[in-house]
Amino acid sequence: YEFSEQLTSKLDVDQIYSVVAEHASRLLPFNKLVITLYDPETEAISLAYQVQKREDPSPVPRAPVQLTQHDSDDPYWKVIRSKRSYQDPSFPVLYVPMISKETIMGVITSIADPETKYSDTHLRLLESIGNLAGIAIEKAKLHEETIAKSAEIERRNKELDDFTYVVSHDLKEPLISVEGFSNILRLDYREIIQGEGKEYLDSIEGASVRMKALIDDLLVLSRISRPSESFKSVSTEKVINDVKTEMEYTLRQKDVRFIVPENLPSVFGNETQIKIVFRNLIGNSLKFNDKPQQIVEIGFEEADSSRYKFFVRDNGIGIDSEFFEKIFIIFQRLHRREQYEGTGAGLAIVKKIVELHKGTVWVESVPDKGSTFYFTLPKVLSLNS
Ligand code: ADP
Repeated sequence: YEFSEQLTSKLDVDQIYSVVAEHASRLLPFNKLVITLYDPETEAISLAYQVQKREDPSPVPRAPVQLTQHDSDDPYWKVIRSKRSYQDPSFPVLYVPMISKETIMGVITSIADPETKYSDTHLRLLESIGNLAGIAIEKAKLHEETIAKSAEIERRNKELDDFTYVVSHDLKEPLISVEGFSNILRLDYREIIQGEGKEYLDSIEGASVRMKALIDDLLVLSRISRPSESFKSVSTEKVINDVKTEMEYTLRQKDVRFIVPENLPSVFGNETQIKIVFRNLIGNSLKFNDKPQQIVEIGFEEADSSRYKFFVRDNGIGIDSEFFEKIFIIFQRLHRREQYEGTGAGLAIVKKIVELHKGTVWVESVPDKGSTFYFTLPKVLSLNS
């Protein structure tokens, strides 16, 4: 019980090996205890750990050594193939498998002095150790893999951001030329360009303004993961007030009912980015709203010990549930531009910012009734809390 307690708390393979060796040395005699790992992909067995004696543990080899290739008479292969223990008939050596969910992870070998006799009890005890060790090693390996995978995903995301940044930046140059030359055409060739020609010119200009907006949004998106400010305590009350002030004109003109709770909390994050989250969500609540009395409601509650859950709710046009995921993808929109202005980047930007703050964002909505966007942000935690 003590052994399994100790093992389940370990996620580091080296620590698992030393716990195994320590407990084995309490339960059975050995001169040398060797832990070997089996890799089913390469079919290689490698030395992972060995102790000479409890009093004289030899150093753990950092790079596993390949021990042997296929050899049917080799006891290691006997154990790996049969997934059962093997006891040498002529010498006190026990080989027991380390198994997790029917998969063989490796072999523990206990080698004693020639005069020692291993009993059945010794074998059973070492087998129990092998079973628990197999599970613990698999868990530790999965943990290692998960960490390596998330580092890889982070690296790739950064690469993608860098690429987006460079491409968007480079696209701006030719766009400035298009804008500049259409301006020259409009001004210097005013007399010649008439009728349809003028309409074409309007289309060119309209398209370049739109393309500029798309590129600017891509630039914002690619810059989110390399913010210029560091995380600090951010008052959401101040952020929401700032956004309200920016939108003062629209709010008054539409006579919007804006409901904000008292005691809005502070969160731990990047103030500029958190303002973008509220600005985009509140902006959408007003934009995608066809009701004579528009309502925007903001609220929050504790999500768990380290996060708050906020919401921005409206009584607008709502969203069909089949699009709940799609709307968070960059440039995905549900309406034509003529109907509702926009590039379709706002929610992708919100999602990326919230995720950078280790939070999540999602929507609940009923078409024609309204939508509620939820997102979580970290609390400001003091060292004593
Ligand atoms: P944009 O506002 O530029 O279209 P967003 O990424 O902010 O881009 O939103 C994507 C799409 O999600 C919108 O085009 C709209 O169809 C839908 N949407 C976003 N917010 C709301 C809302 N509050 N109510 C209804 N639909 C919304």
